[in-house]
Amino acid sequence: MDLSVFFAGTAGAVPTARRGLPALLVRRGGDRILFDCGEGTQRQLLRSVGLSDLTDVFLTHFHLDHWLGLPGMLKSFDLRDRDAPLTVYGPPGTGELMRAMRVVYGRLGYPFAVVELEAGQSVRYDGYEVGAFNVRHRAHAFGYTVVEDVRPGRFDAELAAELGVPFGPDFGRLQRGEVVNGVRPEQVVGPARAGRRIVLSGDTAPCDMVRVAAHEADLLVHEATFTEDERDRAQQTGHSTARQAAQVAADAEVSMLALTHISTRYSGGQLRDEARAVFPGAVVPRDFDTIDVPLPEKGEPELYHWDADRRVPAAAQ
Ligand SMILES: [Zn+2]
Ligand SMILES: [Zn+2]
Repeated sequence: MDLSVFFAGTAGAVPTARRGLPALLVRRGGDRILFDCGEGTQRQLLRSVGLSDLTDVFLTHFHLDHWLGLPGMLKSFDLRDRDAPLTVYGPPGTGELMRAMRVVYGRLGYPFAVVELEAGQSVRYDGYEVGAFNVRHRAHAFGYTVVEDVRPGRFDAELAAELGVPFGPDFGRLQRGEVVNGVRPEQVVGPARAGRRIVLSGDTAPCDMVRVAAHEADLLVHEATFTEDERDRAQQTGHSTARQAAQVAADAEVSMLALTHISTRYSGGQLRDEARAVFPGAVVPRDFDTIDVPLPEKGEPELYHWDADRRVPAAAQ
């Protein structure tokens, strides 16, 4: 099952020629879930992976750079005769925000729902869930976790056969926990394995909630609005420096850290270098980059640059 994060917009506060406002698309199998929808997000998606199969949008908070693209996108879906349902999730207040925006997007011809979440609540999908947790920002803001279900342990078919279990339905019975021909499941099925985990910080000062949520995650996407020379400013505005984000990643022992919410005042290289002094695996994706998150036994998360025809491993450049 493929799992990846597509960076549709990696700027913070204001867009630049190269970076659009915040929007991350998590793709798992055929599912497409958007986190935040800054102004211009629909065009960013149209220019890259497309809009059509998006089913859910999660908002982290109500600062303008994180949702202004939503009313226009909802309206576009309507004009394109969408009939698939769409749900917008967000912190308390999301309903009121969407009602106020109704004058912009009008009546929608497809099933549309708004769901307010409390911190600690999660939304169930087939094989995984998306959970909301509080972060530390000027406004009430969420980070989100994408957590796959625990996977059953590895089944040792060879050993099962050696112990006298015939190949066929009996293998399934063993894997489901039944004793077959005196062979107990724990003899041939390994311990349960954790699913993959992606954590999105949204806008936040460095905080323990992210540290806890991201503990041993495969991928942490953390904001890095400032560098250390603006540490005070970061604190006043409820944001993080690249170094602080890297420290959170190191404390949480994540496999990969991706920095986003990039300010116009810095280059990606500046932020990356500052972060790498603390967390060597830090990357600063460009717009349209993708991070693939394979199952742990298949390899480490990897960053790819966008190219209309092929995937270019970032390490190759
Ligand atoms: Zn922001
Ligand atoms: Zn904000």
